[in-house]
Amino acid sequence: MEDQERYQIGKREEAGRYPVTVDENPAGHIYRRHGSWYAVMPGHPTSTARPDRYAAAAELVRMIDRGQRPTIPTQAPAPASPLQPMPHELAGYAHLVPDLRLTLANLVRAAEATARLDQLAWTPLTGYPGADQPWLLRCRLCGWEGYRFWSHLRGRNGDGIPRPITRHPGCIPVAKQKIALIDLAEERTFECRCEFRHPTFLSECLDVLDSIQNALNGGDSTKAIVFARGILEPCSASGRRALALRAAHDRRANALRPLKRKKS
Ligand SMILES: [Zn+2]
Ligand SMILES: [Zn+2]
Repeated sequence: MEDQERYQIGKREEAGRYPVTVDENPAGHIYRRHGSWYAVMPGHPTSTARPDRYAAAAELVRMIDRGQRPTIPTQAPAPASPLQPMPHELAGYAHLVPDLRLTLANLVRAAEATARLDQLAWTPLTGYPGADQPWLLRCRLCGWEGYRFWSHLRGRNGDGIPRPITRHPGCIPVAKQKIALIDLAEERTFECRCEFRHPTFLSECLDVLDSIQNALNGGDSTKAIVFARGILEPCSASGRRALALRAAHDRRANALRPLKRKKS
């Protein structure tokens, strides 16, 4: 195979990823998840499952041949792939769509994780991947980018105490971290003060969850993601938004339960 001569798979790194070079240039990495392999080129996330590491690495060769190049996430948001232009209204937040099945439960979990990341001064660079998968984040204290596990950040049994306490190698001194976190906390507000109004009241959250579920029921996941903007976008009141979404989601679940029983 021609492709096989062009890529090289490196040694396993932190968070279980394997760097890949194509034609001797760094092209991205591959990782294994639930028995399948996935290729990631920074700035051009794909989510196609491949049967083995070689097929995933070959995916990076094809991306290079399509003219795609890895971008450094600090420079710009991921450019839309030329093959699949992203609808304009999704451009700002589609990269934050959870890397999980598109369901209300997963969107609400993503909002909760995002709110906690805000408190801990991390910015997600990709969608919520689930608790036990590496998540590409940016440290707001120093700009470091890399993979952290949500299950470590949220603490044991969700107790909210990050473990390990060390943020990542090379961050600012621990003594300065506390002050920096307090400074950043001033950006957070109880009311959403964003230009686009995000849902922070129960009624608003019920509306947005209804709209998303209706779109999903109609098989229109793009439309569902458009409606999910209010959940996925960064928001100054992300903490309150997460609480309101959780309450709305619980209320929906309770309202649906008697209906299901009647049917049987
Ligand atoms: Zn840092
Ligand atoms: Zn907002």
